[in-house]
Amino acid sequence: MVQRALLASLDRIPWVSGPARPVEVDPLFPGRSSSRWVRYTPFVEDDRRRHDPDTLFAGAGGIFMVAVPYGDPGHVPGPIRLSQSSWGPDYHRVLPAMLRGIVARELGETAARQAVVQVDAGPLEERAFAVAMGLGYRGVNAGLRVPPWGVRVFLGLALTRAVPRVRRWVEGEGLDPVCVGCGRCLDACPTGALRAEGVVNARRCLSYVTQKRGFLPDLLALPMGGRLYGCDRCTWACPDGHGAAYPGPFIGTARDRCPDARTLLSADAFHYAGTWAGKAAAWRGRRVLQRNALNALGNAGSVDDGALLRQYLCHPSPALRAASIRGLAFMSRRGLWDNMTPIYAHGRADPDHRVRALVERLHRAWPMPGPEV
Ligand code: SF4
Ligand code: SF4
Repeated sequence: MVQRALLASLDRIPWVSGPARPVEVDPLFPGRSSSRWVRYTPFVEDDRRRHDPDTLFAGAGGIFMVAVPYGDPGHVPGPIRLSQSSWGPDYHRVLPAMLRGIVARELGETAARQAVVQVDAGPLEERAFAVAMGLGYRGVNAGLRVPPWGVRVFLGLALTRAVPRVRRWVEGEGLDPVCVGCGRCLDACPTGALRAEGVVNARRCLSYVTQKRGFLPDLLALPMGGRLYGCDRCTWACPDGHGAAYPGPFIGTARDRCPDARTLLSADAFHYAGTWAGKAAAWRGRRVLQRNALNALGNAGSVDDGALLRQYLCHPSPALRAASIRGLAFMSRRGLWDNMTPIYAHGRADPDHRVRALVERLHRAWPMPGPEV
């Protein structure tokens, strides 16, 4: 139903088309290739190949790109937060249908079936193609700005054998291709991940960290606050797009905007699938979200959440056991959990050395009130 509604609104949604050609490597978008900097599209290391359509579809003749607005910059998030990009249905499922709908309308059903589609997960640097094709402009926060919505857009592309007519959304001539440079996104970043124009240290970026499997980094667990998935601080801070009407289903319902971290930790697999399976946030699996939920409740939960965190001390996943211990330590710092002694004793006997090491680090960093082992 969602896809049908979006297909019906294609004329109101920004999309562009043209011949498929390699585009220049944009210094704002490819990220840094040294080991300290992580690419958001890590599938291909060679910059030139990430900017060449042949990498995804050898012999491609045409390219279509779509940018679909999401989120609501007027919404004030609650203490437990889910990225606006995950309020609505999973865009990885919706955008391919939209792209094939556009291709079908422009080049026919056969071309649409044969098109190769990329939405996020693929080798091409979508933002560089979008700028080159006139879909939007670059932002200091490394996002693509699409008028009138600013940086809160989902991007996707489709490559076709046939060459479509050239269609642009914005005209670059006479317009500043870079944003106003107010710097609010740089100031808003809670971890210093966004350091300069277009430069994001993904290892410090909470959006990346909340999607990564395994143990949470010590330095970022506290700044994560109540985040379950994603960050959004640099996009919330951006004034570009405020006041624009946000169409479509990606706005989400009130329930989508205030996710229940407690249910995430207590629900069985069946109920989890019913609530989360259709969301972009679920792409990394249940354990990543549960790990984040333990951390979020430790940072922003109430006194009643301690018992729930404690249940995860014996979870089969060491990353979740560690998140449970750290969450309780956070609660203790906030005065909501009064006895870390048995928690630390339990952690020191953990079979995984990383959990045991975390307990020692927590104990060194924050000597807890009360008797310690
Ligand atoms: S998503 Fe958050 S952590 Fe990442 S660059 Fe933006 S403000 Fe910084
Ligand atoms: S917050 Fe300001 S500097 Fe950052 S992307 Fe938006 S307009 Fe540009």
